[in-house]
Amino acid sequence: GNTSSKASEKDPLTGQPVEVLWVKGSGGDLRTSTRENFSSLYQQKLIDLQDLYGNREDKGLKSPAEDEMVGMYTHATFNLNPRASSIDTPLHSFIPAKFVDHMHPNAIIAIAASQNCEKLTEEIFGGEMGYVPWMRPGFELGLAMQEIVKAKPDVKSIMMGQHGFISWDDEEKACYGYTLDCIEKAAAYIEEKYNAKGGDATVFGGEKYQTLSPEQRRETLAAILPWLRGQVSQQKRFIGTVQDDAKILRFVNSKDAARLAELGTSCPDHFLRTKIKPLYVEWNPQSEDAAALKNKLAAGLEAYREDYAEYYAMCKHDNSPAMRDPNPTVVLIPGIGMVAWGKDKSESRVTAEFYNCAVEVMRGAEAIDTYISLPQQEAFDIEYWLLEEAKLKRMPAEKELARQVIIVVGAGSGIGKETAHRLVK
Ligand SMILES: [Zn+2]
Repeated sequence: GNTSSKASEKDPLTGQPVEVLWVKGSGGDLRTSTRENFSSLYQQKLIDLQDLYGNREDKGLKSPAEDEMVGMYTHATFNLNPRASSIDTPLHSFIPAKFVDHMHPNAIIAIAASQNCEKLTEEIFGGEMGYVPWMRPGFELGLAMQEIVKAKPDVKSIMMGQHGFISWDDEEKACYGYTLDCIEKAAAYIEEKYNAKGGDATVFGGEKYQTLSPEQRRETLAAILPWLRGQVSQQKRFIGTVQDDAKILRFVNSKDAARLAELGTSCPDHFLRTKIKPLYVEWNPQSEDAAALKNKLAAGLEAYREDYAEYYAMCKHDNSPAMRDPNPTVVLIPGIGMVAWGKDKSESRVTAEFYNCAVEVMRGAEAIDTYISLPQQEAFDIEYWLLEEAKLKRMPAEKELARQVIIVVGAGSGIGKETAHRLVK
């Protein structure tokens, strides 16, 4: 997520104190962010943008007018800070509190991705958490939040349908503490319902397949992984990460896995990595062999690519970027686990991590209600948003040997060792 503070700074132009919004900028993640990752903007200029936007005839959710406001943030930059502003900037600016947190924790997304999100929010948090239905992040979402705070001055946070939540306070540590309290409250509510429903034994409709032994899993993976890597790498090479811990196995082995996998990932901050849905292969680890798995994966991949092309054709706009790689980045295999793909080892781990979050979200949502995903058009409008495309274009060029697997023979000493160290660098 992202956080912000409104602080008083000395204006380099006038020498006078001025209110500055420091908000986590575009790119990078909060955990490793430092001062360089935050953009700084004149708070009053951001508020003044509401007039500029309000006077536009063509304003509205997902309108060109809304997207153009993002370009205006540069004009509101304080002290020549070069960090690009996030599309979430208006959310932080328009909430009238000194400190604002916007997060996507699993327990909260589980509520946000429940069919009866609004009712559940009321039940769990009483009147202190407001509710806003799904809206693509931007100026309109910021204005909607501002309206909620105006109408209900007692709210301390807002549940964002199919997305996450936002919370605030005028005191720094109180804001942090309150954010954690909300997450704990959501998690406690979910765990109580989850355990009452039967807990791990009945999760995702109960077990359909059993996990293979570690030896069998390794053997099957050794038989199919090099081939599978070739298949998903038809456009661009990928590096894979295999995950086969108890949690992910419980999901891929379950009765509901096929249905839930098809519904796809809900939180937009997740599916940019995981694609809108994974490839789940209906293979019986107890009665079928590796050759059968390979055949089913081949058929599954073909269907997945066709589905993706259809989704693109159905949802695209006149100015949409060209269709991206139609191959899945997450593959789910009963009895074996998950294989996640990325441009390097670290990215493939992140893909896996995000799908773990998706599984946790589905577990929570199904425990308290029914899990729902974003409508396809909304998912597309995030995935192929011109602003996301701009973000991709800002990424540094890939290194010469990116996406490659390299084996150095004789790397224990001498030239081999030196070569291995150079490659890692
Ligand atoms: Zn968000």
